[in-house]
Amino acid sequence: MSDIIHLLPDSVANQIAAGEVVQRPASAVKELMENALDAGSTIIKLIVKDAGKTLIQVIDNGCGMSETDARMSFERHATSKISKAADLFAIRTMGFRGEALASIAAIAQVELKTKRIGDEIGVKINIEGSEIKSQEACMTAEGTSFSIKNLFYNIPARRNFLKNDSIELRHIIDEFQRVAIPNSHIAFSLHSNTTEIFHLEAGSLKQRLMAIFGNSYNTRLVPVEENTGIVKIKGFVIKPEFAKKTRGEQFFFLNKRFIKNPYLHHAVQSAFEQLLPTDSYASYFLLLDVDPKTIDINIHPTKTEVKFEDEKAIYAFLRSAVKKSLGQFNIAPSIDFNQEASLYNMPLKPVDGVFKQPTIKVDPNFNPFKTDSPPNYTPSDRELSNRSNWEKMYSRHTDNQLEFEIKKEEETQQTINTDWDHELHESNKKLTYQLHNKYILSHIKTGFMVIDQQGAHERILYEGVLETFEKHKSTTQQELFPKTIELTTTDFALMKELENEIKEIGFDIVEFGKNTYVIHGVPADTVGYESVALLEGLIENYKQNFQELKSNKRENLARGMARSMSIKSGKVLSQEEMNNLIDELFACKMPYSTPNGKPTITTFSIEELDKRFRK
Ligand code: ADP
Ligand code: MG
Repeated sequence: MSDIIHLLPDSVANQIAAGEVVQRPASAVKELMENALDAGSTIIKLIVKDAGKTLIQVIDNGCGMSETDARMSFERHATSKISKAADLFAIRTMGFRGEALASIAAIAQVELKTKRIGDEIGVKINIEGSEIKSQEACMTAEGTSFSIKNLFYNIPARRNFLKNDSIELRHIIDEFQRVAIPNSHIAFSLHSNTTEIFHLEAGSLKQRLMAIFGNSYNTRLVPVEENTGIVKIKGFVIKPEFAKKTRGEQFFFLNKRFIKNPYLHHAVQSAFEQLLPTDSYASYFLLLDVDPKTIDINIHPTKTEVKFEDEKAIYAFLRSAVKKSLGQFNIAPSIDFNQEASLYNMPLKPVDGVFKQPTIKVDPNFNPFKTDSPPNYTPSDRELSNRSNWEKMYSRHTDNQLEFEIKKEEETQQTINTDWDHELHESNKKLTYQLHNKYILSHIKTGFMVIDQQGAHERILYEGVLETFEKHKSTTQQELFPKTIELTTTDFALMKELENEIKEIGFDIVEFGKNTYVIHGVPADTVGYESVALLEGLIENYKQNFQELKSNKRENLARGMARSMSIKSGKVLSQEEMNNLIDELFACKMPYSTPNGKPTITTFSIEELDKRFRK
């Protein structure tokens, strides 16, 4: 038998490697933009057509390449950035693996035009499926332009796997932002088909964030700055009252490289401690700078995961830096600065290897989200008779093995029924107790039931909105003072897509220039809510549901409305409010679960309790 092992041709090896580096157009965008940064550019332009599926072009004014380098740049493991293993521990450039261009050229049609600063003439190379098609001298500007055409043209399975344009474009915008935020001294622009989505002038980090996320960020950002022996921290956190319900604006940059790190996220999130409403995420844009010796960025091909030598120390520093900022800007109540400051005098590595968490004095009753006029959660035009609904609810429950029954029904079978008995029953029926401002306990014949107040309210609101859609019967309350809502570019696009449906719910909104809408009216049911926050919540929740559930527009909007309007865990409810909530819940078509399928009610039987006590 002859030997069977042979080396793969370069084009195949490159295609395999490309699978790791280039998953979608956005990955190519990232690699090309990072190369432009490494080339020392001050202006970087990104152009995409059809969400990068047809064209991705990055034009920079960086150092450019010689003819030989231009040719070499497409070879695998060809890089100008490191030359020996030791260099791996001193990396300050974005790239160093020398595989991006080889990978991209294996799976697309690439045109490179480049000219070094001072050279008379540049070079143009066309390469396709790792094969050089042409190379010639050309007139071109100083710097480099890479055009990637028809990504995955030779791997139909990969191409078919790509998502629709709006999703792929969102990924591209994400990558673009991840490069643009930490490099605010560089000008960037992004063109998609015929529109310029971003035009970012060189400036400060704050200016950059405002240019990307909107001018409203001017008042939302709280600066964070701290220099310690092992890490320099700089950037901004978003004031807690603007926290989002979904993840999205959590940006860590390590030596200007975007990274994901749940451990450090926890450090920031916990610095916000009681300032955030439950189920909200802290938003932040934090640049960490460490000695490259102390990290390993080579554990992941796209370099978004990084290993730190001093992860615990960085955690502690980060947490205290954020706390200090929140305190200094009067956002957190009375922080004990002396205690915080002592952190900075800590030895780099404590003897026991364990960093103690700084303590913080807070007023446990402080709630920045408390408003003077709590929203009235009862939808106005749902006519429900308490008595009949309770009765309905119990007969319905007997059908569904949840055997609830009110005393009333039991008692009607009794012959003696004094007024006093009747009253006792009435008070029992309506006797509810709120547990930890989160759950409602209510007496039922066979034991007791526990209702999740937020989930229950979400169900009620959800069915209400769906009914509005069905019956076209929204009522709009005009705002005395129209408000404007400024959105990020992606959210604005989404809002446009949903505009008709949002109007059907009862919002009167009108597009108003770049990334802005004016709110002239709100659904009558939502009077008392802050309209901007409500719409923002709606969009946020819509995005989240969309990712998780992929349900249709209206249903998703109903979920989003329900989410952003619902009374939250933590809200104190009066007896009357609890009773109304229960009545409304049992008037729903599907009272037992939230729109997202989580239970709203659970029951405990007397037998279960008996068992616990009498072994
Ligand atoms: P890496 O960035 O890891 O070095 P790449 O495959 O991305 O690997 O690029 C290979 C080489 O091509 C780089 O090391 C650099 O010398 C050169 N190069 C790539 N893009 C540019 C550019 N925009 N301007 C100048 N040189 C570039
Ligand atoms: Mg590179």
